[in-house]
Amino acid sequence: MADVKDNLEIIKSELGDQITLVAVSKTKPNEDILEAYNAGHRDFGENKIQEMTDKFEALPKDIRWHMIGHVQRNKVKYMAKYVHLIHAVDSLKLLKEINKRAQNEDRQIQCLLQLKIAEEDSKFGLGKDELMGILQSDNLKNFKHVKVVGLMGMATFTDDEAQIHREFSQLENLYFELKDQYRFDTLSMGMSGDYKLALEHHSTMVRIGSKIFGKRKNSAW
Ligand SMILES: *Cc1c(COP(=O)(O)O)cnc(C)c1O
Repeated sequence: MADVKDNLEIIKSELGDQITLVAVSKTKPNEDILEAYNAGHRDFGENKIQEMTDKFEALPKDIRWHMIGHVQRNKVKYMAKYVHLIHAVDSLKLLKEINKRAQNEDRQIQCLLQLKIAEEDSKFGLGKDELMGILQSDNLKNFKHVKVVGLMGMATFTDDEAQIHREFSQLENLYFELKDQYRFDTLSMGMSGDYKLALEHHSTMVRIGSKIFGKRKNSAW
């Protein structure tokens, strides 16, 4: 059994109070989430909208739910009333749908654009040009119910630290290039295996699962 409270405290002391810790609770039961909640933690991350919504219904309402996985447009409506931050936005069409659903709920939803940084072939995330295209599009200015607050990325799952450094620095450089103009305040990068490297590259938000809740079954990471 993972000692959730102890793990949280160790990681929080490493992060200090400037870095936001998203405790990634995907596949984990509500009891584990409550253990972290009772230790004072409020930010939790999930990668499936259905699972996150079930947990939202069952758990205390002051939890801030982070959608960290790939988002299908037809499922945005299920999380629009409560999601705190959507990390992996990868198209203008998706932003349009989030804007529409947020408007129905009379809210503004915060989003991050996911940059593809992994050198390995990975399915999700934007190239730099595509990302700039979204930020510069006139449509985005009309989406009053979404707010793009920064960038997110995932490094390759590898032991090669030099490679992880290269991938994180790409994201870091783009973040600082855009930060002032677009009023960004969030750089979401770093997971259990690589968050210490991410912090060296000025990550402001880390997404940590297994190091808090223990290993997941049937999962590559
Ligand atoms: C699962 C997941 C994490 C957390 O992974 P760990 O290695 O368990 O810390 C972080 N980010 C994303 C996008 C994930 O899907």
